Amino acid sequence: MNIYFIIILAALLAEFLVNWTADRLNLKTLGAPLPEEFAGVFDDAAYAKMQAYLRVNTLFGRVKSSFDLLVLLSFWVLGGFNALDQWIRGWGWPPVANGLAFIGLLSLAAGLLSLPFSVIDTFVIEARFGFNRTTVRTFILDLLKSALLGVGLGAPLLAGLLAFFQYAGGLAWLYAWLVSAAYLLLMHFVAPIWIMPLFNKFTPLPEGALKDSIFHYASKVGFALQNILVMDGSKRSSKSNAFFTGFGRNKRIALYDTLIEKHTVPELTAVLAHEIGHYQKKHVLIGTVMSIAHLGVMFFLLSLFIREPALHEAFYMQAVSVYAGMFFFTLLYSPVEMTLSPLLNLLSRRHEVQADDFAVATSGLGRDLITALKKLSRDDLTHLTPHPFYVFLHYSHPPVLARIRRINAILPS
Ligand SMILES: [Zn+2]
Repeated sequence: MNIYFIIILAALLAEFLVNWTADRLNLKTLGAPLPEEFAGVFDDAAYAKMQAYLRVNTLFGRVKSSFDLLVLLSFWVLGGFNALDQWIRGWGWPPVANGLAFIGLLSLAAGLLSLPFSVIDTFVIEARFGFNRTTVRTFILDLLKSALLGVGLGAPLLAGLLAFFQYAGGLAWLYAWLVSAAYLLLMHFVAPIWIMPLFNKFTPLPEGALKDSIFHYASKVGFALQNILVMDGSKRSSKSNAFFTGFGRNKRIALYDTLIEKHTVPELTAVLAHEIGHYQKKHVLIGTVMSIAHLGVMFFLLSLFIREPALHEAFYMQAVSVYAGMFFFTLLYSPVEMTLSPLLNLLSRRHEVQADDFAVATSGLGRDLITALKKLSRDDLTHLTPHPFYVFLHYSHPPVLARIRRINAILPS
């Protein structure tokens, strides 16, 4: 029996079972009564709606992950990867072009297979719970833009990586790492200026109480804020958010129009104080350094396995190639990702607590942060009592109840 076949199959099944179990445990928590902190925020109807939303989303997620696993396993055992490779090789192209075709066609197939799920999610589930604002036109334009960006930005990078591993010998992983790291940093600058405006309209926050309050707070904590932007999030969903873009002197904060609509000036200032907390506590920098280190480890490991004949045999390949090796490595690497992801989530949850603490300590708006969190939970139908195992696996933020209790505990009396 091929050892790679066993490892990858076991990893895929294990991941599926772990997620299934976490979902089951999470669904069981739905019987919990409304936490007392939320009395007066959620009425009975809203609480029942939140429970229904979680049930539907869990069921939908299970159908999708079962479908994905079934498709991958069928394609694998029926020799689909080899058939695709042989077909492409028949065109007589050079190796890097073969690689672009191989990975490109697999990505295209994956995209097409996930499309019906995306349609159902947006136009059936999100619509039924009153969140969806996406029109069919926006949906189709989003698809086209994402596909063009994937080709325009993704294909050149992939071609470069394939060329390193094809031609550059033993140090290929190092070149691949340096180029990917540079690419990642470049994207931090390019995304807010050229990519995000393709999908949303960003307009400067108009003069007024909100702008004054945010700039006043930013200067109080020594945060050089260049601009505050309003993003038309309402174009796609009634759910709301706030985020940071840019680096150095180009730091900008974007607020969803849906967030501004539903919150008071002190609440919005408290939310922004949390976002600025992430910056001041260097979370953005830590995240970037960790992603770059992770890329280095990944490319080094990839270089050890990329030409491994047994890895190719596990997928019934007649020929060894850098591009197929790269693709199969992502599957072989999935147990490492599965282990890393909860650890990264753990770190992220810690950062969220630090950002909340920072906001409370520096803005004096802890109570407003709590009311903002409560409103957001009600409006976005957030699960109030998730199972700890589900939180451990999937939550990048602490459950909202834990955040509220923590803020209450550190509020100056
Ligand atoms: Zn945060």
